[in-house]
Amino acid sequence: MSTVLLNKISEVKKEINNWKQSGYSVGLVPTMGALHRGHASLIKKAKETCDKVVVSVFVNPIQFCPGEDFDKYPRTIENDKKICEELGVDIVFAPNAKEMYGENSRLSNTELTFVCPPYNFVDCMCGKSRPGHFDGVATVVLKLFNIVKPDFAFFGQKDAQQLFIIKKMVKDLNLDITIIPCPIVREDDGLALSSRNSYLSEEERKNALTVSKALFYIKELYDKGVTDTSILFDSAISILDKNIELEYIEFRDFSTFEKVKEVKNNTLAAIAVKSGKTRLIDNIIL
Ligand code: AMP
Repeated sequence: MSTVLLNKISEVKKEINNWKQSGYSVGLVPTMGALHRGHASLIKKAKETCDKVVVSVFVNPIQFCPGEDFDKYPRTIENDKKICEELGVDIVFAPNAKEMYGENSRLSNTELTFVCPPYNFVDCMCGKSRPGHFDGVATVVLKLFNIVKPDFAFFGQKDAQQLFIIKKMVKDLNLDITIIPCPIVREDDGLALSSRNSYLSEEERKNALTVSKALFYIKELYDKGVTDTSILFDSAISILDKNIELEYIEFRDFSTFEKVKEVKNNTLAAIAVKSGKTRLIDNIIL
């Protein structure tokens, strides 16, 4: 079966209903497109796990803050479809904002119903510099869940805070969906793959490499027995290029999302920076 590209919610629902009647399990991989090997790893996992796979490609306006890169975010739907074909995806769902949020909607919570994840999960890390971002993410993901009705949904550990928030939403709202976390895919030199890497100049990319280097250094020190987060924090800073603007380095329990002072196994070390104007995130599990 070849991959079909659908733009309408009604078309997707119709196809999914047919699948459900035939007893197929359905996997969803939500993306913003500009697909790379990181996305491909999620799709491959979905193909291994489910009978049918839907990849959504939607640059979601309500998860971008004013002044962020919504307008210039790379949109490469033809290539995305080709990648999905190669990977055996059944449906690429690529709606536009009007299809998702309605013709006349002002895309704000004066007119739209939003999902608000808990304050403790949102008012920290990426949420601090991106107010409203995770409300937008949770809202679009719940809408995609309601449209596609997946049995399994696949999310990258690269966006660790997003993963926590989606898992929490599934639990708190009693959704019958299994969330499958997938490991970070990196370039050979360590840089975590991201659609935003295409913004980086050669110099900015070189500087950005020190982000994964800093995380690997944290892991090396932890493996040697260093557990004090303030020492690990300072050591990571010493690795970062001086042109990298640090937003945060945080250490959190990867099961509970609680902040830790002493690192133990299964602690998430997460970082957000800017290289030039490009905001990048990365993390490692210790
Ligand atoms: P995005 O298109 O950036 O919104 O990402 C869509 C999904 O792909 C999210 O679940 C991301 O966490 C995941 N993803 C993005 N980059 C990577 C990567 N380098 N490795 C693994 N998963 C990734």
